[in-house]
Amino acid sequence: MTREELSVTLRTIAGHQTAETPDDLAHWVMSLTGGLPITRTVLARCTKPAHGDEPATWFYVEADATEGVARLRCLACADMRPILDSAERWNYPQAWSCNNCGQSIAEVVFGVAEEGGLARWMVVAARCVGCGQVAGLTDMVVPDVAADVFAASL
Ligand SMILES: [Zn+2]
Ligand SMILES: [Zn+2]
Repeated sequence: MTREELSVTLRTIAGHQTAETPDDLAHWVMSLTGGLPITRTVLARCTKPAHGDEPATWFYVEADATEGVARLRCLACADMRPILDSAERWNYPQAWSCNNCGQSIAEVVFGVAEEGGLARWMVVAARCVGCGQVAGLTDMVVPDVAADVFAASL
């Protein structure tokens, strides 16, 4: 599958479904079709010491699907986290806000597509914590890394 095809998939599906929980969002991500199957999902978590034993999962998100960049900012501690090499290609995209209810706090799930045991692509998806609307944010090229190593690094 080409990157363009995956992006089309994201745009086509986004905006038509809601998810009650992060698990629902992960299921939605796993159900994305159009090429390489997404074989694992990882819920974005901020593990800064400020959160103790309970990683934070609510983020402000900036992402650009054309450039394939994304950045998360932890709602609770404000830690800024560029995804993969986004910082090097950063193009100052608009902050995400829900196109249904307008608020801008999201839970984020990474969906990893693998081939032959190597991670190839990654999808970044959001669930609005206000109304549950799901959205595909962007997809990104992944360096050739073993899929389980890559997923553990997210
Ligand atoms: Zn945090
Ligand atoms: Zn919403």
